[in-house]
Amino acid sequence: MFEKICDNEIYKILYNGEWINSRNNKTIEILSPVDNSLVGKIQALTKEEVDEIIKNSKESQKAWGNLPISERASILHKAAAIIEENADELSQILQLEIAKDIESSQSEIKRTADFIRFTADEGKHMQGETILSDNFPGFKRDRVSVVYRVPVGVVLAISPFNYPINLSASKIAPALIAGNSVILKPPTQGAISALYLAETFNKAGLPKGILNTITGKSSEIGDYLITHKDINFINFTGSTEVGKHIAEIAGMVPMLMELGGKDAAIVLEDADLNEAAKLIVSGAYNYSGQRCTAVKRVLALEAVADKLIQNMTQEITKLKVGAPKEGAKITPLINSAAADFVQELIDDAINKGAKLIIGNKREGNLIYPTLFDYVTTAMRLAWEEPFGPILPVIRVQNVDEAIAIANKSQYGLQASVFTQNIKEAFYVADKLEVGTVHINNKTERGPDHFPFLGVKASGLGTQGIRYSIEAMSRPKVVVLNIN
Ligand code: NAP
Repeated sequence: MFEKICDNEIYKILYNGEWINSRNNKTIEILSPVDNSLVGKIQALTKEEVDEIIKNSKESQKAWGNLPISERASILHKAAAIIEENADELSQILQLEIAKDIESSQSEIKRTADFIRFTADEGKHMQGETILSDNFPGFKRDRVSVVYRVPVGVVLAISPFNYPINLSASKIAPALIAGNSVILKPPTQGAISALYLAETFNKAGLPKGILNTITGKSSEIGDYLITHKDINFINFTGSTEVGKHIAEIAGMVPMLMELGGKDAAIVLEDADLNEAAKLIVSGAYNYSGQRCTAVKRVLALEAVADKLIQNMTQEITKLKVGAPKEGAKITPLINSAAADFVQELIDDAINKGAKLIIGNKREGNLIYPTLFDYVTTAMRLAWEEPFGPILPVIRVQNVDEAIAIANKSQYGLQASVFTQNIKEAFYVADKLEVGTVHINNKTERGPDHFPFLGVKASGLGTQGIRYSIEAMSRPKVVVLNIN
């Protein structure tokens, strides 16, 4: 099924419905974080080739935008079916290319197919409205505004390494159903998985040029791509640092951004500590903590901290460490720079007096699940996003201290509060400066039709299936003068 995308370990790009090589014959090697073996090589495109691709995406879009939504939807349904038919192969490439554990790889694939199907159906409900003029003071009923939605044009989708299939599809599908053409710029590490996804849309019968892919060095073509005059929308997921850079240079282009986080789990005195420990551990350590919505700090009331830590430690010892194919849950981090950064945060916490409960063991990129107690606000671990399997517990004296520390972060993605008291839960939820608060659950994205957003340095705009379709389309207003 995927034979066209690769020739002799060299992966091509999808351009105008064909899989082709770059003319400059330059490639980038993708090595597996699991064992450093070669996964494949990807094309390193030039600026001239980027130009040609954007031109092609622009020219192709009009016909697609005019195609009835029901026909666009049926292509998306076919893509979802192809993803499911090839779930094993897709899951294996995730395990190899980004060292994702088996269960998380499989669930990423299933969720992607479900996402695309839901998006196809949701698109059919995109509706306009009519507005009469006399609602506004001084106007008679002599005009009627007919409002409907049209595509924005060419959408540039930039996805991160941690969900190269799902977070590419969650940009592509809503953009397509809204009638846009899409240029996918996947992460370099994760590009091969994303190219497999692109082929599922291609195989489903997407017309030529409606989905094109660009791979290459961000340092060489990234800024050129972002600032190109024919990009009409940027949909980005990645680090706050890169997101800010894009926002600074892109100019007057509408954007959606999903950025970093430092999600807090606040555990109050009346919480069910068994349940809280299980949920926090799975929220913090799934895919080795390389998730934007991972629990990245625990703010525990002093009275329950000892018991909570004891319960969490028991859960952590159950986590198998190793390679995805061995069935491990904690797998090697994406590269050695990522593991070095996590180690820096561990060392800083130890040097400043945090109590190591478990972990601080490393084999190459593989970091064992690590838990710290008595982390203070003077430590980097209290504020920085590790993107690794490491969790700090900060003890607090009362609820308001927990809220104050939670809100002091530059990030504002999500938070959790664990309590049996619903009034208290809403008090905390109301005060937290984040996009979403989960009561008695770990922080997580989804279900995917819920709105998903980050405030402060965690994002721009709102995702979620209907919200994403709306964001990547715009109102068209036609005013009929009746008199
Ligand atoms: P990253 O380093 O910011 O990269 C994200 C994407 O941006 C990659 O495709 C990268 O390509 C590209 N990029 C980098 N510089 C660019 C430039 N100048 N022009 C155009 N594209 C450029 O992030 P990551 O390490 O892949 O992902 C981890 C981060 O993503 C974490 O901070 C995490 O919290 C965040 N994240 C947020 C969410 C959310 O929903 N809020 C979800 C997932 C991840 P290259 O790979 O080629 O550099």
